[in-house]
Order: sequence, then C-alpha cells, then structure tokens
Amino acid sequence: MISFLSLGLVGIVAIALPITFSTPAVGALQVRVSPTNPKLGDTIAVAIEQQPGTTGSTPTIKLQDKTYPAFEIAPNRFRAMLPTTPLEQPGVRRFQVIAGDQVRNMAVKVGNRSFPIQRINLPPGKSGISATQYELDRVAAFKKLVTPQKYWNGAFARPNKGRISAIYGVRRYYNGKFAKDYYHRGVDYAGGVGSPVVAPASGRVALVGTVSQGFRIHGNIVGIDHGQGVTSAFLHLSRIDVKEGDMVKPGQVIGAVGATGAVTGPHLHWGLYVHGEAVDPVPWREQGFN
Ligand SMILES: [Zn+2]
Repeated sequence: MISFLSLGLVGIVAIALPITFSTPAVGALQVRVSPTNPKLGDTIAVAIEQQPGTTGSTPTIKLQDKTYPAFEIAPNRFRAMLPTTPLEQPGVRRFQVIAGDQVRNMAVKVGNRSFPIQRINLPPGKSGISATQYELDRVAAFKKLVTPQKYWNGAFARPNKGRISAIYGVRRYYNGKFAKDYYHRGVDYAGGVGSPVVAPASGRVALVGTVSQGFRIHGNIVGIDHGQGVTSAFLHLSRIDVKEGDMVKPGQVIGAVGATGAVTGPHLHWGLYVHGEAVDPVPWREQGFN
C-alpha cells in the first residue's frame, strides 16, 4: 500500500482553458463538449444533436488515429466519450464529428494538471513480480468491451468505505529515473481486509479472475462492464461474490478488500476505463455523466 506521507506530494493544479467551437451551419449537427475546460485524466463527453427527422447513421468521432462511437441517449441526441490520460501532452485536440455526409470540425483544449510524484528506490537487480500473459490477455479483452447498452445511471458511488490512500494519476520515479509510461491507473481505498467492495454503478460482471488462474499482479479481480465503452476493475480482492454474466446494481457487494496480487498491503484498487484508457474516476463520482 502506498503511504501518502512518503510520496512527496505535489498539489493538483487545474488550469482552466477556454473551449473553441466552430460555427454550425444551419441544419448542421449541434455539438456540445463537456466539461468546457477538461484537464488531463478527464473524460470528455461530446453531445451531438441531429435535426429532427434526420435519418441516417449514428455519429462517430475521429480523433487523431482513433474512431470513437456515439450512442443514442434520446431521440436525435447522441453522446460519445473521449478519454484523456496523464501520459498525453496538454493542448488543443482537433476532432471530427461525422454523421452520414455531415461533418463538423471541432476543437477542445485539454489543460495541464500536476499529478503527485512518488519516488521508489529498488535495490539493484530487483525487478519485482511480472504479470502472466494470461492475466494480461484477459484484462486487455475486458477493457476493449464496448456494449451499446448504457447500464449506469447518474453519479458513481464509492466502492469501499476506506479512506483514499492513493489518488488517480500519481507518477513515479524509480531510482531517480522518471517512469514515462507509468501513472496510477485508478484510486486506492485503504479498507480493511474483508471490508465490502460494492459496485459503484450498474453493469454486467464481465471479468472474474483469481490468483490461482494466474492473476499474479492484479490478484483476485472483478470487472464490471457499465456499457458504452465504460468499464471498472476491482483488484486485490480477498473474496469474490459474483460470477461472470451477473448483472449488478450500485451498492451491491461484489467482493471484499484483500491483499492478493502484487501489493505491499491490503487495499482496493478501482480502475475506471473509457474505451480502454484509465480515466480519473472523480468526475464520475461527483457530477457523473448521464
Ligand atoms: Zn492502485
């Protein structure tokens, strides 16, 4: 478990930057981006409105080399979710909203954010435990899920009553060298061993894995598919109370806090993914995305 007192914490600074809108032509797609001043780690929601009576294809979003789906959330209204992570550079993201033969060019400015820094010193030659290919494959397949149904509703609940012992996005130096691909891909809760882990939102249990199956790093794990490319993983469990295919409701117990996998002490790690990228759960917990 990460002790926060030893982290050399750097304060979190959100820099609010204005969003740029392109001017819509009459009858064109109406596009709204929220939050208006996202920062690294935030989820960007893109709401798309089509003219009533428009028939045609469901919009998609092209951003850099990726295409993200939008899902219908009301008649003629669609929404896509774009992840951002601490590994990216802050700055302007240009993207296209495409629906049939209609295209809108958009831009959003992603602000910088300072994440806490953790310095880890390992004895020379100590590499630690490595993951099995089996667990990497299972987790990768889970994170790729994009189910058209939206199972969640409203803001997410906290999955454990323990205090938060490590926030999202912590960066690391190993023996003084910056780990450029590492960031803390979730939130840690310092609940006691055996304390309940609950589903933060509705969804379908899409992954159950155990140490005995080869989940050497993750430990006993439950993955919930919340739908529309949003998934949650709960790591290091001492006990699992659900099975793959179960539908769970917010607050439903799915397991218990433990110290399985690669940990130095008992805690719950909750990772929240949007299209496979670990995003900051805080905006999902506070205002939510509906
Ligand atoms: Zn963690």
